[in-house]
This record gives sequence, C-alpha cells and structure tokens, in this order.
Amino acid sequence: MSPQHDTSPQHDTSPQHDTSPRQDHARAASAFVANRGRATWHDQSLWFIREKRDRAAASLPEWETLRERASQIKAHTVAKLAHYLEEFEANAQRLGVKVHWAANAEEHNRIVLGILQQHGVRKVVKSKSMLTEECHLNPYLERHGLEVVDTDLGERIVQLRQEPPSHIVLPAIHLKKQDVGDTFHQHLGTKAGADDPQYLTESARGHLREKFMAADAGITGVNFAIAETGGVVVCTNEGNADLGVALPKLHIACMGIEKIIPRAADLGVFVRLLARSATGQPITTYTSHFHGPRPGCEMHVVLVDNGRSQIRSSDEFRRSLACIRCGACMNTCPVYRRSGGHSYGSTVPGPIGSILSPAMDAEKHSTLPFACSLCGSCTDVCPVKIDLHHQLFTWRRELALKKLVPATKRLSMKLLSFVLQRSWLFALGGKLMRRLVPKLPRALLYNRFNAWGRQRELPPMPPQSFRELYVIRKRDAASAREPARAAPPAELPSKPSQGDAA
Ligand code: SF4
Repeated sequence: MSPQHDTSPQHDTSPQHDTSPRQDHARAASAFVANRGRATWHDQSLWFIREKRDRAAASLPEWETLRERASQIKAHTVAKLAHYLEEFEANAQRLGVKVHWAANAEEHNRIVLGILQQHGVRKVVKSKSMLTEECHLNPYLERHGLEVVDTDLGERIVQLRQEPPSHIVLPAIHLKKQDVGDTFHQHLGTKAGADDPQYLTESARGHLREKFMAADAGITGVNFAIAETGGVVVCTNEGNADLGVALPKLHIACMGIEKIIPRAADLGVFVRLLARSATGQPITTYTSHFHGPRPGCEMHVVLVDNGRSQIRSSDEFRRSLACIRCGACMNTCPVYRRSGGHSYGSTVPGPIGSILSPAMDAEKHSTLPFACSLCGSCTDVCPVKIDLHHQLFTWRRELALKKLVPATKRLSMKLLSFVLQRSWLFALGGKLMRRLVPKLPRALLYNRFNAWGRQRELPPMPPQSFRELYVIRKRDAASAREPARAAPPAELPSKPSQGDAA
C-alpha cells in the first residue's frame, strides 16, 4: 500500500460535490464502536504505525528543519500557484505531455473518458489516486462501459468488497486478514477459510498480473508535479503504478492543482517527510518519475481545481492545501483510531478530511469538525506543519455562524455561555453537582440518552472545587510564612557582633 492515493468503484456514484443528506459522524461511528474487539484492534494497529513514524522522525536530527522547509515551500507555492502551474504546463508540453485543465470533478471525468474513448480503451488499470476518488471516476467510467481495476492491493480489496477506502494510505486497515480471505475466496477463488497473508498476496498478484497484461490504459495519481521540469512523481510501495503505465501505450496522470512544487531540488524535502510520516519507512519502495511519454506512447496530465481555488482564497483554511496526504494525522487522531474511516463519510477522513470536506459541502459534512478532541496531536505530527486543530476549531465557529450546528448543541452552548459568564453561578452549579451526583441512581446517569457514559465512568466527585482548594492552599501558604517574618531564625544573630562590624 502506498503513501499516495486511492479509489474504489460502485460505492458512490455521484459525479462531483455531493448534495446528499448530512453525514452524522457520531451515528456512523456507533456501528464501528459496537464491535469493541475490532475497534480496539483498529486503534492499536494505527498506534503501532504512529510509533513507527515517531521512531523514523526521531532518527533524523534535521526533522524539524525539514518540516519547516516543507511548510515554507508549500506556503510559497500556494501563494504563487498560477505562476507555477503555468510553468509546469509549459515544461510538460515541451516534454510531449498533453496537459488538460478541469474546473471540477465533472469536467475531470469527461476529459478522462474522452481520452480513453479516443483511443478505443475498454480496460483500465489504476494506481491509487485520492483525486479520482474525490471525482468518483471509477463509477463514472464503469457507467460508460469501461472496466476499471484498482491495482494497489488494499484498494483492490475494498474494490472487490464494493466499499470505499477507510484510510488514504491504508485503504483496507479496517479489515482483518480473515475478512480478506473471505473476499478473495468469493471473488478470486482462493481456498475457503485461507487467511495466510503470503498466500493471499500471491493470489492477488496473479489476479492483478492478468489485469495489467490486458489493460489498454494506465491511470495514476500524482504525489508531486515539478514546475521546473514538467515531470510528475508517483510514490508507491508495490510498483503497481509503474507496471500499470509501462505496459499500455496510454498513461493518464490525474492531479489536484495543489500537488505542484517549484523545483526538482524541493522534491527531496517532501520525499523524506512523506514515507516517514505515512508508514515510518525511510522512503517509499518506488518513487517513480515520469518526464514525458515513452517513444510511441501518449501521456496526459489532468490538472483539477474542484474547490481548491475557493480554499486558497480563504485566509483561515488556505494552509490545508499544503497537505501531502501522508495520513499521519489519521494514525495519531484518537477519534479516527476509535471510530474508523468510514464514519467520516468523506473521501478523505480524519483531521485533514474534517477540514477539506466542509469546504466542499458545509452542510453535508457539518459534524466532522466536532469529531475532534482538539488535543492537537495531528498538528504535532503533520510533516508540513498544517495547524490542523486550529482550523478544526475555526470550522466550528464558521458552522455556527452558518447555523449548521444542531439545535441541541446551540442550546447547550448558549446555556454554557450564560453560566460561564457568571462565576458565582458556575461555582454554585459545581457545588450542587459535587453533592448531588454521588447520590443519584446509576440509571439516571448511565442510560441510552447519555452517549458519553456508554464507555466511560465519571470520576469520583472531589470534596472541594479547584477554586476552594486554591483559596485553602494560598491561605495555608501565607500562614506558614507568617512566623518566619515575625521572628528571625534562631541560628542567625539578631544584631551584628563586634567582630562582624569590623
Ligand atoms: S494534514 Fe498533514 S498529517 Fe494529515 S495527511 Fe496531510 S500532510 Fe499528512
């Protein structure tokens, strides 16, 4: 699986910005959390990757310098985006690449289909591409009679199950090897009950090899597009992007406009950060550079906006365009790890998805910025220093201003605001609760209306509030100092002796 992109087929058929009903993260997460064993295993698996990332980052003394450099390069590039995109286009064309511009997902899909139809393509192999997932390219092409096969192993697994990926780097992280065994038995004819990873991987390899050999065209995502050279770079761990475009004569690379970097020299900064942040590897197994078509072949690059210019125009959220899709913010996020990627109902889940998705459709994704404890762990690990938890907090304010926050939350926030503005009321409420809560029947606190209490216990009520403790300790400290001021220590002479004076 690669620190790049992903795709899947029939699970979502809308062509571009979804206007489907509001996605309720908490409700969707409850299905995932209901299976406690799986939720715990998911949490631990991702934490394992987070720890690998920590070790990889700590192995580079210049890690923080790299992060700062990457952040500055991205900020500069986004500020001069039009300039670098035009430079890229000119240089790519010089290399013989056909460059296309798409304002939105619909146009992107039309362009890709048009190229494939011009070449009489029936079968396509595709490496991971979050952009094509965002544009729902697979179902679009399938509706037009094409076969599209995802060639990343994790992607192929979820494609066969007709599920969306649940993670941008590890698309099948929500599945256990037994699930994969069942899926392969059903679709690829592997032995019933077989769940040996090597056996399953070899079976998938054989199956995919046939698809590679039969493909008329290869589609890839793009990790980085270099303005200075006009080339694109694709990072994978399985080599599937390379094989997918090495056999057919047609290569289409699809990229969001934010993937541009100014110079080839900048690439090293991002490549060093990407794999370490994504999976804790020093580098992805394949970092493939495509600088123009092979002799006798054709290469196209489709540059897609699809809402990115709008994000760029926002002072609050512009920095989210720096994302290199490493997935580190997901691996560290306590909410993502315990609720699973599908609960987000968006192409990109986790902290960065909770910023990007409301920008696409604020109403549909209005619960996502609240799927966050504001712990800031995502901001700490982000290799390009996106201030993720600040942006999530800002989204909450934006959603409240747009009146997209549920009435119950609005009411409770108003009530809280009323109390917090009156310190006497806050103190009185605390005093009452400390006395009342230990006496309440358990059923009143832990019932189906109190979602918070389903997996947690309230701590024992303290006898005193923080404020009371503070006053007591301050008074005690003051009285402890009093005698010292009243009488000097016995061992010190109260008057200097003659000898001292001399
Ligand atoms: S926001 Fe940062 S940590 Fe999250 S995927 Fe993007 S680059 Fe990685």
